[in-house]
Amino acid sequence: MNSAYVYLQLYRQFDRSTPVPVDCGQLCSAACCAGDDSGMLLFPGEEEVYKLLTPEGFRIEKSDLEYEDDGIVRKTPILFCDGMCDRFVRPLACRIFPLTPVLNENGRIDIIVDPRAKSICPLAKTMRVEEYESGFVRAIRRSFLLLSKNRHVRAFLKEYTDYINEFRRFF
Ligand code: SF4
Ligand code: SF4
Repeated sequence: MNSAYVYLQLYRQFDRSTPVPVDCGQLCSAACCAGDDSGMLLFPGEEEVYKLLTPEGFRIEKSDLEYEDDGIVRKTPILFCDGMCDRFVRPLACRIFPLTPVLNENGRIDIIVDPRAKSICPLAKTMRVEEYESGFVRAIRRSFLLLSKNRHVRAFLKEYTDYINEFRRFF
């Protein structure tokens, strides 16, 4: 199956599932979208979605985050936007923000508050994972339990975990 369809199915879980039961964008004027052009990383295979959808203002480049997969060094794609989008086209990283997956010491998926979010997001600054909507956290866990069965995603998650852990040292 084309990976685009897998992601499009996963996206649907977040059409109604949000971090908190109110529109948190009203708290902060959607600070996570008003960013400084830092972009959102795409997970392995997710780039295929944007061969089907071509939202205005989206552009995809290669980030500096590299990982080894099947002996090949791959650069993680990163999506840049102009700060506004239809919620049905937004990438997985935006849908799960401000939480993110990491692999724990047993190689299992943990869902944590993304340390990169703590400087911009009032939820990330103040709330523990247990305080987010339980359906939202469950949807993230379910998504990454499924995705991590794929060896390419798992190869990425190993490197991504090290990358996130570097930020955790400072937050
Ligand atoms: S920065 Fe945090 S609180 Fe603001 S819209 Fe984004 S997720 Fe919600
Ligand atoms: S893709 Fe959409 S949700 Fe994600 S940062 Fe850009 S405007 Fe915000």
